[in-house]
Order: sequence, then C-alpha cells, then structure tokens
Amino acid sequence: MLKENISLKTLTSFQIGGLARYFWPAEGAIDIKSAIEWAKGKGLPFFILAGGSNLLVADQGFEGLIIKLQTTNYKLQTNIVHCQAGVKLSDLVKLSLDQGLSGLEWASGIPQATVGGAIWGNAGAFGRNMASVVSEVEVMEAQNAKRKVKSYQNKECGFAYKDSIFKQNKNLIILSADLVLEKKNKQEVKEEVKKVLQYRKDHHPSQPSAGSVFQNIKDKKIISSRPEFAVFQERKEIPAGWLIEQCGLKGKTIGGAQISTKHTNFIVNTGKAQASDVKQLISSAKQAVWQKFAITLEEEIQYLGF
Ligand SMILES: Cc1cc2nc3c(=O)[nH]c(=O)nc-3n(C[C@H](O)[C@H](O)[C@H](O)COP(=O)(O)OP(=O)(O)OC[C@H]3O[C@@H](n4cnc5c(N)ncnc54)[C@H](O)[C@@H]3O)c2cc1C
Repeated sequence: MLKENISLKTLTSFQIGGLARYFWPAEGAIDIKSAIEWAKGKGLPFFILAGGSNLLVADQGFEGLIIKLQTTNYKLQTNIVHCQAGVKLSDLVKLSLDQGLSGLEWASGIPQATVGGAIWGNAGAFGRNMASVVSEVEVMEAQNAKRKVKSYQNKECGFAYKDSIFKQNKNLIILSADLVLEKKNKQEVKEEVKKVLQYRKDHHPSQPSAGSVFQNIKDKKIISSRPEFAVFQERKEIPAGWLIEQCGLKGKTIGGAQISTKHTNFIVNTGKAQASDVKQLISSAKQAVWQKFAITLEEEIQYLGF
C-alpha cells in the first residue's frame, strides 16, 4: 500500500525526475479515498499520477503523496466503453481495431496516456479529441469531507482546447468515464490507425519526451496580426513549434535535453537529461518567442515539484 521514496523517473515518459516522498498505488475509488485522507491527515499535498506522459517532475522530486492510478478495467457495451480512469488509450485503440470502433484513432502511438489524463487535458490530435467521445465522467471531490462522487455530462465538463473543468479545479479526481465510439468497418479503422502511426513515426522524435511542450496559438487576433502568419489563417492556429523554429532554436541543447530536430515543439531526453535542463530550454524558447513575436507561449506539459 503506502510506499516511501519511490523514483518517478521510470513513471514518466520523459524518464526524468526525483523521488516521491510518499507513494500510494490506487486500484479503485476506495484506495483513492484512503490515500487522500492519509495525505490530508498528515497535512501533505497529494498529486494524481496517471500515465505520466504530460509531466515534468523536478530533480528534487515531490515532498508529498503521489497517488498512482492503477485502475485499468473497462467494459464494452455495443459502442459504449465504460472505463476506469487508469485505462490506457492504447488499450482502447486495440479494442477499437478488434471491434471496428471509431473515435480514438488519433490516440494511436501514445503508449502511456490514460483515459483520465486525456480527459483532464482534453487530449487530441488531427481534429479529434476526448471531448468528441466522452459522454459522462465520474469524479471524486477531494475537498468534500465525504469525498462525494459526482457525474458530469459532456456539456458540464468545460471542454475547450487542451482544457476541461477538471484541469481548472484540481480537487476533482476522475474515477471513470463512458466513451461513445462509432461503429465502423474494421478495415476503415485499421487504415486510419495506420495513417496516424505513420504520421507520428515521420514527425515525432523517438527519444523520451512528454509530447508537445507548448500549446499552439489559437487567438484570432494574433493569427491575423502579421503577414507571416497568413499561412495559418485556414488552419486557425499557429503551431508553437513553428514559432520556436523561426527563433533558430531547433536542436538547441542544454545538458541532456534538446529541442527536437524532428519536431520543434518536442523537447527530448537525449539520455541523461535533468528536469533543470528541460526547464531552461522551456525558458529559452518562451523568451525567444516573446522577443521575436511578442507572443507568450503557454505550456501544455504539467510541472510537479517545482
Ligand atoms: C510521444 C507522445 C505523443 C503525444 N501525443 C499527444 C497528442 O497527440 N495529443 C495530446 O493531446 N497529447 C499528446 N501527448 C501528451 C500526453 O500523452 C497527453 O496529454 C495525455 O492525455 C496525458 O495522460 P496521462 O495519463 O499520461 O496523464 P499524466 O501525465 O499522468 O497527468 C497529466 C495531468 O493530468 C492529471 N490527471 C491524470 N489523471 C487524472 C485523473 N484521473 N483525475 C484527475 N487528474 C488527473 C495529473 O494530475 C496531471 O496534472 C503525447 C505524449 C507523448 C509522450
């Protein structure tokens, strides 16, 4: 149950980070409730860790309790998947391939991401996202003395670009969700998954990373503010990677961290990167983009222990 001084390095896709002072693997709602109560009793902060694929953990680690979600059950009923928050999206992609279900093809090739983490940040790609498949989310209210469990319908989830009500309110812990997929020809699903995997292979680096570091720029005013942004009018977003590349930072290396030469919105761990190396690269990119374009880049990745 409760463990101490567990390395978070191997539990993040960056493969970076120090120790969790306390660590509680949680296999269900009862475990999560007990873990929260233990942390509150000790006056310690707690943090929900799922797949760790969107996370930079500080080199000095986290002086609180990590609640590691290990809730991996799901059940398919016709085209609705009832799944616990810790189910991997990659398992649901496999299920989709087996059953001829569409809606999660975009998630192919992100091995660690979980349903809960993806709902939290409304993960998505290629014009699809979690908001388009979620019908209902079951949540535990950590602040509530009884740790009340409540359901949120899709419209109540506050889904927006890389955002949700769960990201805004850190006291809401996602326990499970119902995802509605579309019945499709198996071959069509297979073709789509193949396309996504090929795209990721061609455009994404293979070294450890946390995916895109920054959010793309969606602000219409900014997109129409300069002639060089005109090429992005139709796409309705300026890729953060393009801005970073224009600043000449492609391949910039600090310690063991590098702004990827394959995709400039990825920072990769070339082997022995420290969180401080990644943090410095993030600061350099933000500073350079601000100086050249007067645009503030916002992180998509989350920080822990800084
Ligand atoms: C190679 C690669 C490719 C990627 N491609 C994409 C992509 O195409 N599109 C995209 O959107 N993202 C992408 N990502 C980023 C990442 O996979 C997603 O953001 C993913 O949804 C994060 O899920 P996770 O389970 O790993 O969450 P974690 O990284 O563990 O957690 C992220 C945040 O969510 C919170 N959280 C997690 N689960 C819960 C829960 N049950 N209740 C409450 N809070 C919770 C955590 O506390 C944390 O703040 C990629 C990452 C990698 C490494």
